Amino acid sequence: MVKYVDTLVTFAEFPNEISLCINISGCPNHCPGCHSSYLAQDIGEVLNKESLFRLIEENKGISCVGLMGGDQAPNTINWLAKCIKEQYPELKVGWYSGKDKLPPEINLDYFDFYKLGPYNEERGPLTNPNTNQHFYSKGKHLHKISAYKDSFYDVTNWFWKNDTNTETAGISTES
Ligand code: SF4
Repeated sequence: MVKYVDTLVTFAEFPNEISLCINISGCPNHCPGCHSSYLAQDIGEVLNKESLFRLIEENKGISCVGLMGGDQAPNTINWLAKCIKEQYPELKVGWYSGKDKLPPEINLDYFDFYKLGPYNEERGPLTNPNTNQHFYSKGKHLHKISAYKDSFYDVTNWFWKNDTNTETAGISTES
């Protein structure tokens, strides 16, 4: 079970998407310098299929749902992503994790984006070109003869305003 504290519709956390970001509490990571330390507490409302679908219905016009946190229960994160894809196949799904590696419970078939890495005060958030964090986006590439296959690409530079390859930029969270 995971709980959420609040939600926000943003344009920054998942570039090129209008995202309903759901801030999940119970964060086990305790990154030094965390600007959202309240998220370490076991607070908020239960995030289950019913509350998730209600939040989506209350935010018509979004193109993406961002599950922000939930490292304490990756199996639940995976299940929530599966629920979204089954009920709202038109929506993209992203996950912000504070871990360095994806846990085995995550099936990337249910995700379009994911962010890995704890917050490191000296390295900064995704918007800092020196960041230790990585943001991945699903794309398609030609695999073997003519079959297209989904793959994830490290597109962290999307967040760097001065990078020549940047398609979009701007993120405010350190999570
Ligand atoms: S920065 Fe993010 S992952 Fe790290 S403790 Fe804070 S909420 Fe958790």
